[in-house]
Amino acid sequence: MHKVRLGRTNLEVSRWSLGGIPLSMGMGGKDEETINRVIQAALDYGINFIDTSRVYMDSEENIGEVMKTRRKECIIASKSHSRGYDEVLADLEESLKTLKTDKIEIYQVHELEPQEIPAVMAKGGTLDAFKKARDEGMIDFIGLTSHHVGVMVDLIKTGEFDTVMFPFNVIEREPEKELIPLARAQDIGTIVMKPLAGGVMRNIESCFKFLNGYPVDIILNGVSNLTELYENLKFAESTESLSASELRGFENEVAPLGKDFCRRCSYCMPCPNDIIIPVMIHLVWQMMKGRTYQEISDQKKEMGKNLAIWWQACEECGQCEEKCPYDLPTIKRKDELLALFSR
Ligand code: SF4
Ligand code: SF4
Repeated sequence: MHKVRLGRTNLEVSRWSLGGIPLSMGMGGKDEETINRVIQAALDYGINFIDTSRVYMDSEENIGEVMKTRRKECIIASKSHSRGYDEVLADLEESLKTLKTDKIEIYQVHELEPQEIPAVMAKGGTLDAFKKARDEGMIDFIGLTSHHVGVMVDLIKTGEFDTVMFPFNVIEREPEKELIPLARAQDIGTIVMKPLAGGVMRNIESCFKFLNGYPVDIILNGVSNLTELYENLKFAESTESLSASELRGFENEVAPLGKDFCRRCSYCMPCPNDIIIPVMIHLVWQMMKGRTYQEISDQKKEMGKNLAIWWQACEECGQCEEKCPYDLPTIKRKDELLALFSR
């Protein structure tokens, strides 16, 4: 796998890198053995960058199992979703223990919302905790992740962040206007998440070629088994970008998908009633796009039959809707699914 320089960190990282969400059994991973095989195979292939988070359930733990023997082969990025000074340092301590390491190369402020900026930048706030961790050698670099382009533009101007991670693909193109040029001008490392829009876009080659047209460093891709890993890697080495006519064709191809689909990021989890929301909401969307219940239940086998039963446990607390960065109407989708099933 070819390597790129990750901005001012000067780290040499694999252009295609491993995302940590499906490395958790609670967030799309199949079982510990499969997750272990995916991580081992990625390292064997020369992928040297793995991203995870304290909030990705058992993702850090599964990565930590591999790090017991292969820590020197990769650069780890993790994240804290906490905003309080002490809470960030407690998260970091837990991450270090779980990942079986004494240092995390890139530690990131996770999923920053606009209203949280004051808490991050205040004296004695989130950022100060990250700086203390860096001063004490527990981390090397400070990163920022968000789904809000304006937040990232404002914060990288402070010069405090070494990397920035954001969703970017042919459907979600806001970063191309200001964020990517600004990050490049400031030599901040750029990490693209959701290159396949959460797996909804199936044309992997065009997705990667689209990204090759921009000065971004890492394509971060989550895969849950070896088949998916190798399917992605088939196209990951190419440095070709889309021609103007290919881009138009790709835009037309994805237009029917709209924008209101689940990216399976799992930020809406956990549900107090143990509903696996991303699976549910993604399947409803597929049905709304014309796939039949039969096709879906054939594909998902026993899971398909249990969907309606699971979702009947929803008490409409609204927590998931508040946490979804795409403002997806989970409760409305639940009602739509139940209506489809009752037919
Ligand atoms: S609204 Fe329903 S699905 Fe969403 S978190 Fe609450 S109980 Fe779970
Ligand atoms: S419903 Fe929203 S928060 Fe939950 S997985 Fe889908 S996109 Fe992510």
